[in-house]
Amino acid sequence: MAYPEPLEALIGAFERFPGVGRVTAERLAFHVLRDSEARGLAPAIERAARDTRRCGTCFNVTEEDPCLICSDPERDAATIAVVEEPRHVEAMERAGCFRGHYHVLMGALNPAAGTELAHLGIGSLVERVSAGGIQEVILATDPDAEGEATGLAVVEALESSLGETAPEITRLARGLPAGSALEYLHRGILEDALEGRRVIGRRRGPGR
Ligand SMILES: [Zn+2]
Repeated sequence: MAYPEPLEALIGAFERFPGVGRVTAERLAFHVLRDSEARGLAPAIERAARDTRRCGTCFNVTEEDPCLICSDPERDAATIAVVEEPRHVEAMERAGCFRGHYHVLMGALNPAAGTELAHLGIGSLVERVSAGGIQEVILATDPDAEGEATGLAVVEALESSLGETAPEITRLARGLPAGSALEYLHRGILEDALEGRRVIGRRRGPGR
């Protein structure tokens, strides 16, 4: 017995979501049919797609380009925290203990899952740092294997492209629970990790 074609199409659409299998997709599709409020999903998706974009500087998701963080004169533009995803920016902002700028890589190095170096925003970070005025790049990638590999790739790219003019590169302190995603960290843990960050790129930019 097959579902009507429009329902089958909806199930198929849910199945393309990350981590959603056939059973969950069916459950979600029936929920949408049953619950009139859930139908607000369609306009919400359209609106999010229409009214958000990537910040041309930090690649965070934003309504305005440049984003509110990049255009905030109160923030320290000489310090950039490199994170994997927009949700990590959100987590650090919620924790409220970082007042610099961000650079969102849009993923982590994971060749087995098809994410190669070229897919990440490392080139745009190098360009941004090359333009000058950056004194410290803080690696705030996840403390898991992919995040570590990604951090090393960032250090390599910055040092090989910028040589002597590369800024100081630091990494959040260890002691974070292994594999824990930044987004689950409490303010205190993140604050400690920022406070205790270690220099892993030794070259200093001019003016330091
Ligand atoms: Zn921005």
